[in-house]
Amino acid sequence: MSIIKKTSDALQGHGKKESIDDSIKSDVFYKEDVEQNIWKSKLSWKITLSVFATMIVIQAAVMVFTVNNFEKEKLYELRQTGLNAVAPLIGQTSDQLVSPIRPDQARKLIEVTPVKGLSIYSLDVSQLATYGETTALYLSQFMDLNTTYWSVDGSSYEVIYSSSDLRRPYFIVAKLDSSHIDMAVMEYVQQNFLILLLLAAFVTTVLMIALSQLLLEPILLLRKNLLNAVRNPQKPQIQELRRKDNDEVTLTVNIANDLIRQNADNLMKLREQAEDQIHQLAYYDNLTKLPNRTMFAERLDQAIKNHVVKKEKSLVVMSVDLDHFKDINDSMGHEVGDMMLEAVAERLVNATPAEAIVSRASADEFSILAFLDEDISESSEIVDAIFASLAEPLVILQEKFQVRASIGLAHCPQDGMEVSHIMKNADIALNRAKEDGRATYRFYSEDFDRAVQSRFQMLRDLRLALEGNQFKLHYHPQFDLKTGKMIGAEALLRWYRPDNSPEGSHLVSPVEFIPIAEQSGLIVPIGEWVMETACKAAVEWQSQGLDPIRMAVNISGIQFHRGDIVNMVKRVLNDTGLDPRMLELEVTESVFMDDINQTIDILRQLHELGCELAIDDFGTGYSSLSYLRQFPIDRLKIDQSFVREVLTNNDDQAITRTIINLGHSLGLKVIAEGVETTDHQNFLLRENCDEVQGFKYTKPIPLNELLEYGKAYNNDLEKPSKDSPKLSVI
Ligand code: C2E
Ligand code: MG
Ligand code: MG
Repeated sequence: MSIIKKTSDALQGHGKKESIDDSIKSDVFYKEDVEQNIWKSKLSWKITLSVFATMIVIQAAVMVFTVNNFEKEKLYELRQTGLNAVAPLIGQTSDQLVSPIRPDQARKLIEVTPVKGLSIYSLDVSQLATYGETTALYLSQFMDLNTTYWSVDGSSYEVIYSSSDLRRPYFIVAKLDSSHIDMAVMEYVQQNFLILLLLAAFVTTVLMIALSQLLLEPILLLRKNLLNAVRNPQKPQIQELRRKDNDEVTLTVNIANDLIRQNADNLMKLREQAEDQIHQLAYYDNLTKLPNRTMFAERLDQAIKNHVVKKEKSLVVMSVDLDHFKDINDSMGHEVGDMMLEAVAERLVNATPAEAIVSRASADEFSILAFLDEDISESSEIVDAIFASLAEPLVILQEKFQVRASIGLAHCPQDGMEVSHIMKNADIALNRAKEDGRATYRFYSEDFDRAVQSRFQMLRDLRLALEGNQFKLHYHPQFDLKTGKMIGAEALLRWYRPDNSPEGSHLVSPVEFIPIAEQSGLIVPIGEWVMETACKAAVEWQSQGLDPIRMAVNISGIQFHRGDIVNMVKRVLNDTGLDPRMLELEVTESVFMDDINQTIDILRQLHELGCELAIDDFGTGYSSLSYLRQFPIDRLKIDQSFVREVLTNNDDQAITRTIINLGHSLGLKVIAEGVETTDHQNFLLRENCDEVQGFKYTKPIPLNELLEYGKAYNNDLEKPSKDSPKLSVI
């Protein structure tokens, strides 16, 4: 509960405060984040650098082209400058063999203009004169008049002026000073490059700003929201874009935000469902949907604090246990068992007051908490209502089942003020109700508690008894009713429990301590000791020269199913050397209630060893003719309770008669125990019973007395006397 509470607290109040603070903090963080990240963003740099590189490449290509044109333009200008300087000097002369420019004119020309040298040709391409530096172009007849020559170092440029350029019948090759053109081109390139860089820088900055606004900011926001959603999927801190545009990026961010919100909603719903489920599993029983033991204890605790402490009301806690539910479950199947529990749960809810709490405490146990306004008598009324509601048979799969319950009641404050105490006392009262024959109810009493305490003490003492040699065996002889022969003895356990008496111990009946040894599992080692001691006694009997007798040993159901009985018997027979046919194992009908196949298997194995098998206390338990036929049994032992009143009680007489006939019809021997009188014996003889055992002949006696008894009895059979213990009918 506390874990669930804590988590839900964290989800509610606490979580809200955190998210507001966080959103303020994260808004600041977000701005810094974006600003820092514009210059850190790999994407922005990639886009910007590619744009930058593209611009440089395009502009470089453009520049190559323009530089070329610029240079051509400059050369053309130079040509025109030369022409403008040369053309006016050509005088009006008709003599085609004389240079139209005089040497003094030429010298001046060379001094003040870019013209550095001249070669003057007549129309028939004969050189008339050369001035200044020698020209590299030498005019010939078929020469293209557009031919130019630019010296390798770029310092001179030669052109041909034709007669049409000069408007005179001459050709002039002029060598012009072109050294300034390279400089101009360089300057042109530098200027352009600078402009280009500035432009690129401007474009890059503008692009970066645009990218940050339009692309980077939404992407970073998206990334942040997604990261938050990954870290805290149920309560992600989502931020919206400040821009409300309709472009693809904004739409994508908005869709992603919606998706994160949807996911958070779904997770929240799933979590709530899971919490509900956990709560249901932790506090309710899955089958009956009733509160379980944990929830019941919590409610009881609340009720004590809210009502009993304030002296408003008293409470009753009832432990309700269905009698023999396990048998129904085992024999009819779990499905029927489940349906029965559901139906019982419903009846209990209907039979109890509206504010009472009915819970399923364990498999077939229910706990009920009811509030009492007056006194304890009110709880009897509730119990009556419960019994009345269960009186009507349950109909399950068209079959009628009669459910009976035992109920233990403890009151608060009378029987305790603490949850565990009251519940324990209700259980103690329930156990008493079961012990007192079931289908009844008991109010808790301190005496019950004392009985429980003394049982715990007995269990502690029993653990010491084996080591302390406090166990003894007594033997109860068995006789063949027709021949009078002593044919066997039953080994019966005796415990001399140490005490403060002058004898130092007192005898405890096995009826008292065997159930405790069974509940604790101690019966397994105790049973092993009994088996060893009894088999040794049988061997001792034979070693005294007496006719072999069958030794009957009681085997508890617990020993039968929990201990490795087959190997234990095998080992003891081996160790003692007793003929297995001289050993009989007495089991009660209760062993047949558990796993039938396992039971058959174990009985077969024991029978295969050669041992005889008897069903003890036959007629008192759950018997089925079908298993009697399946099991390898040799003997039925009529319970002493039927024999005791066989002459006075018609039912007991009929049962005894029926058991004898049934045994015979199945080919089994029948032995009667509890034979105390000659009348008992005569009745059994008349009814054809095979064997007898009882106080009429002797009480169970220790081994030395048994040996004496056996010897005396044998002699008596041979020479009967008046006081002999032999069977009086013989
Ligand atoms: P049980 O196996 O049915 O043993 C027969 C009981 O009936 C014995 O009581 C015996 O003394 C008593 N009995 C026999 N004939 C008469 C009679 O004529 N009159 C009267 N009043 N009683 C008679 P005991 O020894 O007190 O044993 C009681 C039960 O304790 C046994 O019933 C058996 O279930 C159990 N038990 C005794 N020894 C062992 C043992 O070694 N192992 C196991 N598992 N159970 C044992
Ligand atoms: Mg017995
Ligand atoms: Mg018996």
